[in-house]
Amino acid sequence: MSKIVILGAGISGHVAAAHLRRKLSKEHEVLVVSPNSNYQWIPSNIWVGIGRMKSDQILFPLPPLYKKKNINFKQALVTTFHPEGDAETESAFVKIKYVNGQQKGNTENVTYDYLINATGPKLAFDMTEGLNPGTNKAYSVCTYSHAEHAWHALDDLIQQMKQGKKAKILIGTGHAKSTCQGAAFEYILNVEQELRRHNVRDQAEVIWIANEYQLGDFGMDGVLLSYGDNIMKSSEMVEMIFEDRGIKWILGAGVNKIEDGIAHYETLDGEYKSETYDFAMLIPAFSGHGFKAFDKNNEDITEKLFKGFMLVDADYTPKPYEEWSVQDWPETYQNPSYNNIFAPGIAFAPPHAISKPRVSKNGTSISPAPPRTGMPSGITAKLVADNIIDIINGKKDLHHKGSLGNMGAACIASAGYGMTKGSGVSITTYPIVPDYNKYPNTQGRKLGKTFGEIGLAGHWLKFALHYAFIYKAKMKPFWWLIPE
Ligand SMILES: Cc1cc2nc3c(=O)[nH]c(=O)nc-3n(C[C@H](O)[C@H](O)[C@H](O)COP(=O)(O)OP(=O)(O)OC[C@H]3O[C@@H](n4cnc5c(N)ncnc54)[C@H](O)[C@@H]3O)c2cc1C
Repeated sequence: MSKIVILGAGISGHVAAAHLRRKLSKEHEVLVVSPNSNYQWIPSNIWVGIGRMKSDQILFPLPPLYKKKNINFKQALVTTFHPEGDAETESAFVKIKYVNGQQKGNTENVTYDYLINATGPKLAFDMTEGLNPGTNKAYSVCTYSHAEHAWHALDDLIQQMKQGKKAKILIGTGHAKSTCQGAAFEYILNVEQELRRHNVRDQAEVIWIANEYQLGDFGMDGVLLSYGDNIMKSSEMVEMIFEDRGIKWILGAGVNKIEDGIAHYETLDGEYKSETYDFAMLIPAFSGHGFKAFDKNNEDITEKLFKGFMLVDADYTPKPYEEWSVQDWPETYQNPSYNNIFAPGIAFAPPHAISKPRVSKNGTSISPAPPRTGMPSGITAKLVADNIIDIINGKKDLHHKGSLGNMGAACIASAGYGMTKGSGVSITTYPIVPDYNKYPNTQGRKLGKTFGEIGLAGHWLKFALHYAFIYKAKMKPFWWLIPE
């Protein structure tokens, strides 16, 4: 009998738990440890943030589902890692702290045979002074409660605009090293559309602010894409979309301080500037959780497990941008020091960024961190689950592999809600990490599989994905036929 402990019940943790439970016999234990007892389909937070969906449409409680499916659940946070056990036990364990119920505040050592760290990112608002969702008129849509809060503030502003107020709305990245530009891009398009729907668009200045060097970088160094019969850069496509909608932009901006209605930022030219606003939605930096690890003698071995995020089978040798290679990216998400520990989704440490690093004249690094979207999070979680199943069944090598260098990502940004009035901007990229050897003439991406589309169909697809992924997450009949 094996015990598999999964830390985190986000996209990757939940996918891993579901596949393990489906494929492993009941004698094996699957245990999920996560602080939130709800599963949330994060991509639909965008619609919560414009008041077009309620939180309860994008979340459901995990304990009843897990009970039904024979997955154990502890509503707790992991605090420390002990991959060799300690003086009292030779079994590997993690220390957890309960966050709810009668056991709230209690700690427990949870032993494991296999550990999946799927704790995603820490939303590091504290890395930008004054950026704290709901204060200083700055909001977030990174969780459903943040998104609800954002909507209440935006709705207030829209009501004031109906009384004649002129307003400035600032949306983008809230730190020089933020990632997840795709989510902010989707939100700005939705907000702009909502302003139109409420007949207040003329009273608003809508501004995109980002650490990107060019529009459409999305932390992927931009992409060259097929657009109908044409080939264009993502920068041109996004520029066209923003021009069409009257959205202004500020690029190469490292936001470093937020005051009530003022965003301060540094530019790549080394200038210090600020922008006022009445409502802002700024994506924070994503960092590791700051976990510590200890060996059996209680010596600190954090550097064997973590480099911010968790170390896996990537090539972490420091290299200049010109030498970055798609081969640097991991394929099995297995920790090199402890082969029973894995980290799929956002929890693994990337070997380096994808976008060219840029430094301001003052030496501040201002460029996007690599994006790790939902689809790769699900795919990497499934392959980790399949490898653990193989090992339990006696196989020695890890047969299931997948790198962000041979995986695609689809960023389908709805741009307005409604079956007939909505629109969508889809940018599909293959591969996520450019492969300049395979695709030397198309900036490392395969044209045809890397394409952009604008129109109502993209919006319908996003809608369909919302329902399909919630169906899948609820493990309804034949859920496993829906791909990650
Ligand atoms: C607003 C928004 C919109 C997005 N839209 C899209 C989209 O349209 N398409 C797309 O592909 N991707 C999208 N993404 C990205 C996508 O949501 C992420 O790629 C995905 O959620 C990553 O999954 P994950 O499981 O690695 O991390 P998460 O989903 O963040 O899950 C991490 C889990 O770990 C838990 N956890 C945290 N700390 C601890 C701890 N100490 N102990 C135990 N558990 C812990 C958390 O509670 C959570 O359950 C969007 C992201 C945002 C913020």
